[in-house]
Formats: sequence, structure tokens, C-alpha cells
Amino acid sequence: MKSKVASFSVDHTTLDRGFYLRSTYKALGFYPLRSYDMRFRAPREKEYLTPETIHTVEHLMAHFLREKLPGKVVSFAPMGCKTGFYLIVKGWTSQRKVMEAVAEVCREQSHLRVKNEVPGLTVEQCGNPELYDIEGSNAALAEYGALLEELLAK
Ligand SMILES: [Zn+2]
Repeated sequence: MKSKVASFSVDHTTLDRGFYLRSTYKALGFYPLRSYDMRFRAPREKEYLTPETIHTVEHLMAHFLREKLPGKVVSFAPMGCKTGFYLIVKGWTSQRKVMEAVAEVCREQSHLRVKNEVPGLTVEQCGNPELYDIEGSNAALAEYGALLEELLAK
């Protein structure tokens, strides 16, 4: 079925792990919003992130990316297919700058030891604060951070 959803026109059978600009929107007719596909896993490998890991990475990125890119992050959200995340950034920030910020968060947040280091995992701040996996998140961020370093070095 044809669809206007940008990611539905991407062939997921050949899609590799990576950091992709998926669409650019214009808010108010001129202000750019860029939607990135942060693909942690290649769909064809069928090695999906667990809900616990996804939720932990979601909290870490949502919090720390906003510190790295003040006023720029509109939204950071998991993909329902469990292979990655969507990041929407406003303004004219270059893709490279965004990738560098994500790589820094990966590097800085991939050695956590306890739940308290994850922002917002309380009953007041989150819908399911017991859904987390520190080791899984450390591993996923270390792996994705290494991939970004590779891409940035090219
Ligand atoms: Zn939560």
C-alpha cells in the first residue's frame, strides 16, 4: 500500500545500522524541523532491542541530548519495531553536530551502575519506572556510540 510516511518508502531489508536524515519539515512555512532515524539494529538481523533497554535509552537520550543541544530537541522517541529511535531537532543545526551530540551522550552514559543515574525513572515522572535495564542500555549505547564515531571519522 502506498503511504505518505517517509520511513515506509525505505527498504528495510537492506537498511543498515546508522544515523539517517529521514525528513525535513517546515514549521510555520519556513522553520526547519529535521527528523532523524537513529537505527541501532539492522532490521534484517532480527536482533531487536528489549523494551527494558529501549526505555532506559529513551530516558537517557531525552534528558542528556537536551543538555547537549539546548533548545533544539523537539522529540526523542522509540520506534515500535524496536530497532531504533526517532529524533526530531529544530533549527538549522547540522547533521554532524547532532551526531556528535548523540555520540557524546552514548560515550558518557554507557557506564552506568544504578537506576538512580537514569533521569526520570520515578513513579511521578514515568509511566513504568520498573521497566529498565542498565546493562542492556550500557551495551546498546556503547555499540551505537562506536558506530557513530566510525561514521563521523569518514
Ligand atoms: Zn519512562
